[in-house]
Amino acid sequence: MPLVPMRQMLDEAKKGQYGVGAFNVNNMEQIQAIMEAARATKSPVIVQASRGARKYSNDQFLYHLMLAAAELYPEIPMALHQDHGNSFETCSSAIELGFTSVMIDGSLEEDGKTPSSFEYNVAVTKKTVEFAHARGVSVEGEIGTLGGIEDGHGAGGTGLENLTDPDQAVEFVEKTGVDALAVAIGTSHGAYKFSKKPTEEVLKMSLIAEVHKRLPTTHLVMHGSSSVPQELREIINQYGGALKPAWGVPVEEIRKGIAHGVRKVNVDTDNRLAITGAIRKVFVESPEKFDPRDYLKPARAAMQAVVEARMNAFGQAGHAGDYEAKTLDEMKAYYK
Ligand SMILES: [Zn+2]
Repeated sequence: MPLVPMRQMLDEAKKGQYGVGAFNVNNMEQIQAIMEAARATKSPVIVQASRGARKYSNDQFLYHLMLAAAELYPEIPMALHQDHGNSFETCSSAIELGFTSVMIDGSLEEDGKTPSSFEYNVAVTKKTVEFAHARGVSVEGEIGTLGGIEDGHGAGGTGLENLTDPDQAVEFVEKTGVDALAVAIGTSHGAYKFSKKPTEEVLKMSLIAEVHKRLPTTHLVMHGSSSVPQELREIINQYGGALKPAWGVPVEEIRKGIAHGVRKVNVDTDNRLAITGAIRKVFVESPEKFDPRDYLKPARAAMQAVVEARMNAFGQAGHAGDYEAKTLDEMKAYYK
């Protein structure tokens, strides 16, 4: 299937009352793991690349791998999304490259670290929406500031410093016209989100319900939504790793979010953990091996297992055949 606009994918997810996992990629094996999981579970999927991933793959490698995926998995609706664009230029270059969706993260200034003013966020997001919608491309914005740092992007902190304000969320969506909205509810990027199983005190699921009530037609996005399963951490540590204990966002909490309008769920850390554990295991158990395929194949399989589990949990499994891809020209007309 040609690359699908994310707006269409999330509108369909709303109709079917499910969430769509958005998985980060940097290389071929990660894309293969996601596409095999999508095929096995018959799922639509969002593949996303951070600024760091685009730099790592020199843009063209990544884009052509995605075209290969679209050709090899014609039955799978797939959106290609820019994760955490720090500036209008990052987003416009992604659109010119062929991405069907971009996130402009105006909650931080262009340095990707300093929390910005509401006025700055509205201005940079509105400019990006105008450029993207004129080309049929979908836009995700962010209101409030997520915690942690990933790929050099993020304000740091626990994620509780600048939670989404529902009134501001309404004003932001009215002023910018974004298709999807990332909300700050206490989650953060990376492997160390919470020091114990999160409760409402640190993971404000009630905020999602509140924002959804006020913005029933805006698709909500949960960032930092890896679950950081203990068994993945244990495999890494069993084979020489040194990860501290930590809690992520339990899958049952994500499912509550989906019941309250969350349509896009970002997952990266869990896949990184699965890949690293599988590679460490081969290195320790078979030190005589030196063909990269000997450890990349198990790494790919380990990531596929995680992605399949998330696709089933988020409810997107079984929905790949529900619709035909809209063209960006059709989306252009829709936005007009
Ligand atoms: Zn994020």
